[in-house]
Amino acid sequence: MKNLFGLTLPELETELKSLPKFRVKQIAAHIYKHGMKTFDEMNDLPKSLRAEMSTRYEIKTAELLTQLDSADGLTTKFLLGLSDGAAVEIVLMRHDYGNSVCISSQVGCQMGCKFCASTLKGLQRNLTAAEMLGEILFADEYLRRFGKTLDSIVVMGTGEPLMNYDELMKMLRLLHEDYCLGMSYRRVTISTCGIVPAIKKLRDEKIPVTLSISLHAPDDKLRSALMPINSAFGIKSLLEAANDYAQTTGRRVTYEYILIGGVNDTEEHARRLAKILSGQLANVNLIPFNPVSERDFNPPTRNAVQKFFHFLNTHGIGATIRKEMGADVNAACGQLKANWQNQNH
Ligand code: SF4
Repeated sequence: MKNLFGLTLPELETELKSLPKFRVKQIAAHIYKHGMKTFDEMNDLPKSLRAEMSTRYEIKTAELLTQLDSADGLTTKFLLGLSDGAAVEIVLMRHDYGNSVCISSQVGCQMGCKFCASTLKGLQRNLTAAEMLGEILFADEYLRRFGKTLDSIVVMGTGEPLMNYDELMKMLRLLHEDYCLGMSYRRVTISTCGIVPAIKKLRDEKIPVTLSISLHAPDDKLRSALMPINSAFGIKSLLEAANDYAQTTGRRVTYEYILIGGVNDTEEHARRLAKILSGQLANVNLIPFNPVSERDFNPPTRNAVQKFFHFLNTHGIGATIRKEMGADVNAACGQLKANWQNQNH
């Protein structure tokens, strides 16, 4: 049976070419906007059409394998199973300013960042646009059960989204359609470890998504040691591409900086970071390292975090410290999946 989930309206029109266009649009809205999983639920379609559709097509998205809720009720982590048996994590965060979901773009990751557990087994495969959209609609449907809405999306989970560029674009455009969530591009953040040519390509798409750069070090030597991608695209070219993105789209770029105890968290690192970001339309998000058993790094001291934060803010760089959410639900990427696999295999 052919799965209709993930097809755009023009693709549905081609697939269902015997149906009038208004019918196809109704079906698209039922699939994406109303989250229907069977044709029987589509009451405004003739009964005979519903029966016929059920014999030829299915509407299949990710299924929930397991979930964990933080004690404070602000964070929920879901492990979703895909049709080939792969599994991806998403994290739902309830902030004061709205509900946001962090989704994955790949199964595994090939980028090899030294502080990250998601890359330890390399890249297994790219997610399709349908699978990424499925992650988002899962979170949207979950929230709707509680009378809440999904307000923003962050593509910052497992994987490097810009290494899965075409499927990412297809998903973003589908998400934006009025028969889907009608999500404004401004409510979407794409996080990258710094694929410079893809940042330039994204700039030219003319869709004002927020760009978030995983920087994590203020100089090439340290950054290349932590993030192998830096050997291909150094900090200078990365900051030029990011600045160009900000100037073209008018969107402030966020720089993510994981503070790792004794590695990149001294005042000297803060000074060098302030220097390279001076004059950029930028904001720095400081993330105290969340220890993962697979990686041999330490969290920073509370004092080091405060000093780093203070230094940036008093030297012209807007910085925030990421509120620690869901430490009790294994907030570090990949941990829910690892735990689930250990228990079920
Ligand atoms: S931090 Fe992101 S880009 Fe780097 S290895 Fe992990 S998932 Fe991949």
